[in-house]
Amino acid sequence: MDKADAAIIGGGAAGYFAAISCAENAPGSRVLILEKSPNLLTKVRISGGGRCNVCPACFDPQSLVTHYPRGAKALLGVFYKFQPKDTIEWFESRDVPLKTEPDGRVFPASNHSSSIVTALEDAARAAGVEVRTCLGEVSATKVEQGYQITSKNGASITARAVLIATGGCRAGDTPHPATQLGHTVSYPVPSLFSIALADEWPKRLSGVSVPCVTLSLPAHGISQSGPLLLTHTGISGPATLRLSAWAARVFSEMHYRCEIRADFIPHTGEHLLLEWIENNRQKQGGREVFNSPYPGIPSRLWKALAELAHIPPATRWCEISTSAVRALMSLAKSAPLQMVGKNANKDEFVTCGGVNLKEVDFRTMESKLAPGLYFAGEVLDLDGITGGYNFQAAWSTGWLAGKGMAQHIS
Ligand SMILES: Cc1cc2nc3c(=O)[nH]c(=O)nc-3n(C[C@H](O)[C@H](O)[C@H](O)COP(=O)(O)OP(=O)(O)OC[C@H]3O[C@@H](n4cnc5c(N)ncnc54)[C@H](O)[C@@H]3O)c2cc1C
Repeated sequence: MDKADAAIIGGGAAGYFAAISCAENAPGSRVLILEKSPNLLTKVRISGGGRCNVCPACFDPQSLVTHYPRGAKALLGVFYKFQPKDTIEWFESRDVPLKTEPDGRVFPASNHSSSIVTALEDAARAAGVEVRTCLGEVSATKVEQGYQITSKNGASITARAVLIATGGCRAGDTPHPATQLGHTVSYPVPSLFSIALADEWPKRLSGVSVPCVTLSLPAHGISQSGPLLLTHTGISGPATLRLSAWAARVFSEMHYRCEIRADFIPHTGEHLLLEWIENNRQKQGGREVFNSPYPGIPSRLWKALAELAHIPPATRWCEISTSAVRALMSLAKSAPLQMVGKNANKDEFVTCGGVNLKEVDFRTMESKLAPGLYFAGEVLDLDGITGGYNFQAAWSTGWLAGKGMAQHIS
């Protein structure tokens, strides 16, 4: 019978970080990574368009957790122990210089995810971690001395501690290794997607980006702001991805068909907009409405809103009717958009759902139900928005789980 001290199921970001942390904290122990596929660290390789957005440059745990639609409370204590500052130090001390882009995303200075992959592989090798691939689905059962681990291709190992770091699951993926050990796994739905619209007018503006828009689902009290990109199928960009994350479950329950409201000038109240219109009427009466957009609204979008408000193209400000003013204001501040589906976001997508956080002790990442069983990464019911937050959760929970396992087996 093959025996290990600690076995890590899943060779992704969280699994690698946990394995390294465990092996470094329990020198001389046998730590195994067990990966079902032929490839390791696949998502790290493809992440951030091949550049890998390692973490966000957000160093205050209190504000860091506000970027996690699910898991914020549980992650707070974790981030006090290992946060982006530690991630940066971890990689830079292993000869991977990092750089912070103006929007706060941290990447390897090389602009290649291979720098991150190589650092993780080298650190695992140096710590004596053994790696096995092509195992098929790996699962574990509780036995007296720890866990019996079996793989689809027939491998059989016993280990005193086991970490499940199998990443986000998809609906219908059965059986989940965590449920086999008595844990509850909430129904997985996608997060971080762009939105397909029935409306034709935004699609005609494909390529137009708006610096700051607030998208909301008023009936559910959910709203998110940021840059918006109009695409040939609907809307994308940070505001859309954030809304998809915060409303992941709501969208799923509504089968991705509902009305979204867009405020194209969220920093301008209705009274200020009305003042601006009145000023145009009085002082710029000869100018055409179509050719004088509100500051910050791209001219193509402004024209589309004026058309939707049924304002004839050559209308001058002095000729605009009160009802047209009302319609234009309403569209600028709360344009209805009919969502009819979701589209994959090629840059990043994650799963909303996973192992119930109440069943895990976030001081060590150990299961509250089964001693010696640990969790890390996206397999848990936690996820962040784009910007490096998802890898940060994987590094932090992986690092902590590795320490916890080291203590358990020492
Ligand atoms: C296209 C794309 C780009 C992304 N870009 C970024 C980015 O730039 N920044 C960021 O922060 N986040 C990004 N993310 C999200 C990030 O990749 C994930 O949140 C992160 O990889 C989660 O790490 P993990 O180790 O928990 O899971 P994963 O990386 O998914 O690793 C899980 C591993 O477990 C293996 N596995 C699964 N089930 C079993 C089983 N039963 N037995 C054995 N092995 C198993 C899988 O094959 C996989 O190798 C991106 C995601 C995608 C899809």
